[in-house]
Amino acid sequence: MNLNRELHEAFGHCWHEKDIKFNFPMPTLWQCKCGICFQSFEDLINHIAQSNPDYVADPRLVIREMEKRKDYGMFILFIYSKLPSKDNNNPDIEDLLELIAIDTTGKFAQLALDWLKGEG
Ligand SMILES: [Zn+2]
Repeated sequence: MNLNRELHEAFGHCWHEKDIKFNFPMPTLWQCKCGICFQSFEDLINHIAQSNPDYVADPRLVIREMEKRKDYGMFILFIYSKLPSKDNNNPDIEDLLELIAIDTTGKFAQLALDWLKGEG
């Protein structure tokens, strides 16, 4: 499954996608999985594009979601434990910043998903 979708649903949010096309009654309606209906397919596509976050491209969105959770502190410790150790046995703050603010490979999103699945 798509990592963005899997993480978004693990946060308890709806992943927006085309659900049903109603041809009757007229006019044609396009419904998203969230229940909102649109009178044009283009409006549905715009809604989907604006509603589904890209956690891989912007890992800051992950930290914003995790910050709302009661286990946020434990998650931070988990992330800290996943950083490579340096000479003094402590992870480098630069590695942490890279992970949550710069990396666009999905590492942070995958770690958050692992945590939410209890595999952290
Ligand atoms: Zn929707």
